[in-house]
Amino acid sequence: MAEKLIIIGSGPAAWAAAIYAARANLQPLVFEGAVTDANRVAGTLPLGQLALTTEVENYPGFPAGDLGAYFTAAMGDALDEGTRAFLAESARHGATGPTLMELIRRQARNFGTRVITDDIVDVDVQSRPFGLSASDGQHYQSEAVIVATGARANYLGLPSEERFKNRGVSACAVCDGALPRFRNRPLAVIGGGDSAVEEADYLSKFASKVYLVHRRDELRASKIMVQRAMDNPKIEIQWNRVVEEVEGNDREGVTGVHLKSTTQQPDVKLPISGFFLAIGHTPNTTFLRGKLALTSKQYIQLTTPGRTHTGVEGIFAAGDVADDYYRQAITAAGTGCMAALDAERWLAARGG
Ligand code: FAD
Repeated sequence: MAEKLIIIGSGPAAWAAAIYAARANLQPLVFEGAVTDANRVAGTLPLGQLALTTEVENYPGFPAGDLGAYFTAAMGDALDEGTRAFLAESARHGATGPTLMELIRRQARNFGTRVITDDIVDVDVQSRPFGLSASDGQHYQSEAVIVATGARANYLGLPSEERFKNRGVSACAVCDGALPRFRNRPLAVIGGGDSAVEEADYLSKFASKVYLVHRRDELRASKIMVQRAMDNPKIEIQWNRVVEEVEGNDREGVTGVHLKSTTQQPDVKLPISGFFLAIGHTPNTTFLRGKLALTSKQYIQLTTPGRTHTGVEGIFAAGDVADDYYRQAITAAGTGCMAALDAERWLAARGG
């Protein structure tokens, strides 16, 4: 028998959609992704991007303080060793990313959401109900579908960058820029587009100095953004430079960056405490190519302003998979709620 609603994904968008859909009696089935080495390397394990970070200071409702008793009561026997370890951290910082995601997942399950820990690898958008194939070869049918498969930040791929993730290396200035470890310290932003300049400008509010590292002699950013970077006395552009190595140690995290020249100039080593990537994101839409309308950057194209409708009636999208602009947990959760309401109303209109 066909499901009423299948939700693909497991970040804030998917679980928020599941909470709303479950409470509306749609008995949602969530595919939260598979636990595989490929997903580990890609950063697309269950619980999404937020599970890759430590403290989350900007998700409403979780101030810094000892939230351990609350987490323990809310999670009950779902508290595994890893989560208990995170709780010790939470006492100082408020919610950590993995704990926050476990809480939202649990909230969705409390209302009857069913969960399958596997990837959806294909969606038949022609058939009614829609046909979905999981990576274990099983097939499912659903009247409506919400895609909330998120996106992943692009990294340079250096081992030293991997080593210092969450200890000075970040792919989200808005998420991490205000953390104490970056305040009044020199930082570097890698990239040359609008978002790199925007992130450098944002970080200059907290940092003592921001190096904007770009491999060419001209920024790709729009003229107005370039002017903003030039006018900001805290931003220094390192032209024609590529990153050779992120430097640091286990105690302090990132302490510097080694830059190579693309024009035969001598190498430079800059002392920095933060290394911010701004070289784009990759939405998790490969399995939807040729099925759903995607933007030129491969994000899902939403078709109605202020709604979560996609190019195929009955398929809705939420979170970073359809958003290359805000990319925050709260906006993902917000659009997850919207997608569930849109799906519910669409199903109701068809007598579902
Ligand atoms: P995601 O969180 O991207 O999750 C999508 C998940 O869907 C994947 O992980 C995978 O499990 C699953 N999936 C993907 N493809 C498939 C498939 N084919 N089948 C089944 N499942 C699939 N935001 C903040 O608001 N505050 C912060 O402090 C903050 N810090 C961040 C720190 C880091 C290091 C990063 C990378 C991001 C941070 N963000 C932060 C951004 C925030 O995590 C994202 O905006 C948010 O997680 C997007 O949620 P989402 O629901 O769209 O999907």
